Amino acid sequence: MTKIIQPGSTIGVLGSGQLGRMFTIAARRLGYRVNVFSPDDDTPTGQVADIEIQKPYEDLDAVAEFAKGVDVVTFEFENVPTETINRIDKFVLVHPAGEVLYTTQQRLREKNFLRGIGIPVTPFQPIHSLDELRNLAKNNLPAVLKTASWGYDGKGQTKIEDMSEVESAWIALNTNHAVLEKFINFKSELSVVAARSQAGEIVQYDPFINTHRDHILDLSVTSEDLPKQIVKDASQITHAILEKLEVTGVLCVEFFLTHDETLLVNELAPRPHNSGHLTIDAYATCQFEQQVRAVCGLPLGNTTRLKHAAMVNLLGDIWDGGQPNWQNALTFNNAKLHLYGKKEPRMGRKMGHLTVLSNSPQSASELAFSARKSLFHKKQ
Ligand code: AMP
Repeated sequence: MTKIIQPGSTIGVLGSGQLGRMFTIAARRLGYRVNVFSPDDDTPTGQVADIEIQKPYEDLDAVAEFAKGVDVVTFEFENVPTETINRIDKFVLVHPAGEVLYTTQQRLREKNFLRGIGIPVTPFQPIHSLDELRNLAKNNLPAVLKTASWGYDGKGQTKIEDMSEVESAWIALNTNHAVLEKFINFKSELSVVAARSQAGEIVQYDPFINTHRDHILDLSVTSEDLPKQIVKDASQITHAILEKLEVTGVLCVEFFLTHDETLLVNELAPRPHNSGHLTIDAYATCQFEQQVRAVCGLPLGNTTRLKHAAMVNLLGDIWDGGQPNWQNALTFNNAKLHLYGKKEPRMGRKMGHLTVLSNSPQSASELAFSARKSLFHKKQ
């Protein structure tokens, strides 16, 4: 049954990073109020929300108070404890539902779910001890060892090239719930961002082509010349996942495209995704507005691309040598600067992004790289 949360109502958000910030901006544009709950203070989301609650997710009394003060709850951070969602569920609807979060917040559960519904994933093995890792590594290198839970942006994963690296990789991971994945020498990485409404309507953006640096997304570009069959397969897989998981909200499916033109699902994110940030400037409706519409029971928006675009992330290293040269980047025509209001520019920390619109993915990427380069004080 569709429950419409009308504009003017209050949406609760769990997690307070940049995804929550961009969600809140989209929600406010549609006339909603937003309360955010996270353990942190003066956060990217809190700075633009109506109310910022700074409490641990484990403080279930505070969680209950938060839930009583809002009309619906969503999240921007999927590693929220299950008990927190269960407590909120007693008072108000959570979208996507707790089961979606449960499946996607742990790599093994996610991969088993995907395999179970017949979707191709990167070959993997669960690992619980160094001995198990040694045994499996013998015939499976190169491979990537990942923590089963709580990994993001390349944290909690190590590539293992040969047996001499096995022990240090295991120690560095510091867990006994891990996954050993075959290293895929992929041709490219792509993602499909999609949304499903309370009524089960599904919309998708066309695939974005992604490039990572040090396991962190560096560049996302609109696609132009992907083989039609690949686009069709990616779309069908995404559609099936949204339906089988019964997602109400936004979901991103990250794929590896292999050299023999096969798609493997690498990972799911049950929320707007970094690779979809270019939808803010280059598409009729952005991924954050889709999340607002989906969780509030409204019709989903048009996903037409208005222009080709490229998005580059701005990490803390740009601050090396002082405040970046913002004026330089802003002189680029059709460059859109997004900053997240984070105070401490640490290495590898996502501080903002730049989206450049152009007539082709190629020229958009070149301009985006040049615009980013112009921000640095030190020669790159
Ligand atoms: P993940 O956190 O699993 O999405 O990994 C981040 C990035 O690391 C991916 O987008 C890839 O660029 C790289 N990566 C992760 N797993 C593999 C793999 N099995 N084979 C090759 N590259 C990988």
